[in-house]
Amino acid sequence: MSLKAAYSKALEGKSLAEKDIRYIIDLSLDRLGELLGCAHDIRTARFGNDLGLCAIINAKSGTCSENCSFCAQSGHHKADSPEYPLLSADEIVAAGATAQGHGVTRFGVVASGKLVGDSDLRGFAEAVKGLASRGLAPDLSAGILDHSQLKVLKQAGLRGYHHNLETSASFFPQMCTTHTYEEDVNAVRTGVEAGLYVCSGGIFGIGETWDDRVDLALLLRDLGVQSVPINFLHPIPGTPLEGREVLAPEEALKLVALYRFLLPDRALRICGGRVTVFGEERKNELLGSGASGLMVGDYLTTSGGAVDTDLAEIKAAGLMPEMGS
Ligand code: SF4
Repeated sequence: MSLKAAYSKALEGKSLAEKDIRYIIDLSLDRLGELLGCAHDIRTARFGNDLGLCAIINAKSGTCSENCSFCAQSGHHKADSPEYPLLSADEIVAAGATAQGHGVTRFGVVASGKLVGDSDLRGFAEAVKGLASRGLAPDLSAGILDHSQLKVLKQAGLRGYHHNLETSASFFPQMCTTHTYEEDVNAVRTGVEAGLYVCSGGIFGIGETWDDRVDLALLLRDLGVQSVPINFLHPIPGTPLEGREVLAPEEALKLVALYRFLLPDRALRICGGRVTVFGEERKNELLGSGASGLMVGDYLTTSGGAVDTDLAEIKAAGLMPEMGS
């Protein structure tokens, strides 16, 4: 067993055997540079120098019925996070136009909550229609949607459906008790069956093991999701994970590299927690770890300055921002 053998398999798009996966997990940190180099090569073989960019708006915030332990928007926790109902379609489209002004064309509308009622569904459809008519590719992250709701939204111009599984089936009950893992898996299946671009990933540094991380990656692969967002825990005061230690940067890099080996042909997007783990100084180390995409700007508000800084840094790292992927 060697890193080279695992690398060759991943380059050919073959699944890694259990012993390959274990070899990568057990690799000592003094070989981290070698591992990252292999992961970056696998990513380049599939995606060239392109780095897919997307931006989001927090279109409905707070008072969520669910109790995900990392989340500031849960109504079960005491985090000091904004609370507001669904923004108007005009406000959402205006935020999309701002992102478009910075060259980003994949735009996610994110709303807290488990299920979507009729009134919010009409609001999402109107916003999606407005975004699509401007030439943007609208994605929606709004909890669990059923077939008929996704059909309405797809007809309005929806391109992508986002629903994270967050972690493995076995660790999930320690993170959330208000709904089941199976409900989330079914939501992802529904998105795939609807023919949408499905983006589903997880959050890391919440107490999960390497085995949990592997289980999640392999399930996402088997479900057929095209894009896997990777979030790192940013412990928020008032949530049950407020005192949790942030992941070490080396562990985060190794995790992204492992995901590239396990998911050689899927988009891997670095989303929340990048600066929490790496700081402003080191945050671009992730660009050489096998990732193929990045969420830019502020995560829950719009900030043109942040987008421009990201774009300049991506180009300086020798990558080409791919605005609509
Ligand atoms: S369902 Fe989403 S918004 Fe609600 S608590 Fe969980 S992660 Fe937060």
